[in-house]
Amino acid sequence: MRDAQVIVVGGGPAGSSAAYFLASQGVDVLVLDRARFPRDKVCAEYLSPECSRILDRMDALNATEATGAAHLEGMRVRAPNGAVIHGEFAANHGFSGFRDRGLAVRRTLLDSILLNRARSAGAHVTEAARVTDMSMHNGRVTGVQVLQQGKHQTLHADLVIGADGLRSVVARRLGLHRASRWPRRIALVSHYSGVDAIGRFGEMFVDKSGYFGLADVGNGVTNVALVVPVSRAAEVAADRTDFFEQWIAERPHLAGRFSNATRLEPVRATGPFASFAKRPWFPGAALVGDAADFFDPFTGEGIYAALRGGELLADVTATAIGSGKLDSLDRALTAYASRRKLEFKGKWKVERLVGSVISSPWVFNRIALTLQKRRDLADLLVGVAGDFVPAREVLRPRYMMNLLLSATFHR
Ligand SMILES: Cc1cc2nc3c(=O)[nH]c(=O)nc-3n(C[C@H](O)[C@H](O)[C@H](O)COP(=O)(O)OP(=O)(O)OC[C@H]3O[C@@H](n4cnc5c(N)ncnc54)[C@H](O)[C@@H]3O)c2cc1C
Repeated sequence: MRDAQVIVVGGGPAGSSAAYFLASQGVDVLVLDRARFPRDKVCAEYLSPECSRILDRMDALNATEATGAAHLEGMRVRAPNGAVIHGEFAANHGFSGFRDRGLAVRRTLLDSILLNRARSAGAHVTEAARVTDMSMHNGRVTGVQVLQQGKHQTLHADLVIGADGLRSVVARRLGLHRASRWPRRIALVSHYSGVDAIGRFGEMFVDKSGYFGLADVGNGVTNVALVVPVSRAAEVAADRTDFFEQWIAERPHLAGRFSNATRLEPVRATGPFASFAKRPWFPGAALVGDAADFFDPFTGEGIYAALRGGELLADVTATAIGSGKLDSLDRALTAYASRRKLEFKGKWKVERLVGSVISSPWVFNRIALTLQKRRDLADLLVGVAGDFVPAREVLRPRYMMNLLLSATFHR
């Protein structure tokens, strides 16, 4: 017997988006999350301008803005040599997003709003229900095994959606999970009040051995995030708060801004976090969000990829789910894999390029000097990270030549 047409494992942005768009099309959806909401998530909490389009479609944009979410006009990135790249979302490159500003908002607030929107669309949500394994029959996923209030049970569905994040049980149990060899990074995140000179831009500070981010997340609170190579894991494990605060104290361009700041909560750590799925589907199952692919936090695209992935999956599969024909459903799942590739292929390339460049201070310093002078090139790159300029615009030979030639001739 079937408990729902679709079971969504995980009620983060990916799961809520998939559940919302499927339930809106009349599909019977059950969301299971091991957490009780509101729950927090280690994140820099920046939402690209194009996220607002999907939030609006989910009727979640007004509620998100009503929390006091900050509006960000663009990004500032400081290179190890002190060069500052300044890029804005509203620019003269001929592309415009759904909004010309990004948002920054606490995940405790955002994720609860999104899950409630899935509920309002008709999805059933069970919190504090941890999926421990898949239920299979003849090589096909037929449901999940769940642990809830100390009791194990099996729930059945035609489709199981793994939206259970970076360490996805669904991806692992189906043999789809792969850990990337590079870049292996870990992150530390906390929230502060009273950080000096916080403005309307997300800020990144790239260093020889990591990067540091600051963003206003509304209501006088600043999200402070530090990402370092996994080779520093032992130091972090020894005392993560000390590691975090030392990092700030040792850098004069940061230390001054924290002289009157108060840390509002313990420093949290996560990682290593580079991973991907061999493919985003299996007969009877699909992966979405971090469970399918993890985007490096530097470009701040994970939440968009999660929301867009859920929207895409629902668009491609809703009719087949409604038909109740499993072979149609599997065909729709292969179509989902192709559409994901089309949608995200360029971004994966840009992410890898950016990851390589920031790992090499010599190269990044030179490129930063160019982008500091060439606002047009910086705006285009920030637009790609904002998810409204197609990635191909910065992958074109002309863009690359502009960047590399002027970087080569800098003195
Ligand atoms: C340091 C850091 C900074 C980041 N900064 C940004 C940023 O500024 N902007 C941005 O866009 N992205 C950022 N990201 C990425 C972003 O956080 C993720 O891409 C996004 O949260 C993915 O959403 P998701 O729904 O796939 O997964 P998640 O948000 O992780 O949600 C997964 C859900 O699944 C549930 N779950 C997990 N396992 C089970 C189980 N076995 N059974 C039931 N439920 C389960 C969890 O409780 C959780 O609610 C950052 C990531 C990191 C690590």
